[in-house]
Amino acid sequence: MQKNLAGSAGFFFSFRQERGMPKTERWQWYVEESAPSEQHHHAIDRVFFEGRSDFQQVAVVSTPVFGKMLILDGDTQSAEGDEKIYHETLVHPALAAAADRSDVLVLGGGEGATLREALRSPDVRRCTMVDIDGLVVDLAKRFLPEWSDGAFEDRRARVIVGDALQFMRDDRDRYGVIVSDLTEPLEDSPSNALFNEDVFRLIKSRLAEGGVYVLQASTASFHNASLHCKMARTLRRHYAHVASFFTHVPAFDTDWAFLACSDRIDVAALDASVIDAYCSGLRGENFFYDAVTHRRLFSLPLYLRRALAAEGESFR
Ligand code: SAM
Repeated sequence: MQKNLAGSAGFFFSFRQERGMPKTERWQWYVEESAPSEQHHHAIDRVFFEGRSDFQQVAVVSTPVFGKMLILDGDTQSAEGDEKIYHETLVHPALAAAADRSDVLVLGGGEGATLREALRSPDVRRCTMVDIDGLVVDLAKRFLPEWSDGAFEDRRARVIVGDALQFMRDDRDRYGVIVSDLTEPLEDSPSNALFNEDVFRLIKSRLAEGGVYVLQASTASFHNASLHCKMARTLRRHYAHVASFFTHVPAFDTDWAFLACSDRIDVAALDASVIDAYCSGLRGENFFYDAVTHRRLFSLPLYLRRALAAEGESFR
């Protein structure tokens, strides 16, 4: 996920490989910048792939603390150790709240974890995942099978390699839940064209009556929640209910925010009994999300509530 909106600044560098240096200084390091003056260094103990697709810089590495990691344009997308925090948060409040979760659309979601989480619900009869980058999907299948955990082979999965915007323009179906798991809208990102009024209108036109549109919505950190607030202000023009929620994602080294949008239901106010009943029907055990976590996710700190209530920029 892009955290430094000034442009991706993640890069690899190695300390001098001089004999006799302490072990830590022999590692290669992946450095992620969350602001021009803030860096997070991940030691790399193995590089599975590093290169450029037609759309973005792609790396798959392994790190001692977080395990395997997918990095796009120099920013951590997800890490083995804590990706379930992000993907359970992104998927399950929306699915639990939706009037009809039988047909789900995922925009992006390349490594297959969002697809995995949606297909854990037996009520989901089809989940369509549209990712522009076939290389990311192939690398995820090859090096990160834990993320998809068989989801790519699930007969309910429809995986399309293509532009999510073009797909929605051509598609005629309507979905009970639309999950946007795209990279950050930066000038050099393939997702940039998906964050504007027309596209938000198009997404809504693809949403079934009573449906829920949920999206990863940038950071909720005290120094950098402006993009999140900009998305929330814009979406309030399209939905009766737009609920912000957030959680800390250790691999991102920051608080990450989401938005759940619906005309029928305020996802924030979902009843605990509904969440418990929904979670008890999922295949396998959750790692992170349940009715208690739901309350925490939607309990926003004062600074964020103030920022969301303030006037400000929105997408046009
Ligand atoms: N789930 C991950 C996480 O934990 O944050 C990140 C999401 S996933 C890696 C982001 C995906 O969005 C990438 O695989 C990228 O190829 C895809 N993407 C970006 N722009 C797109 C577009 N216009 N259409 C479809 N997919 C797009």
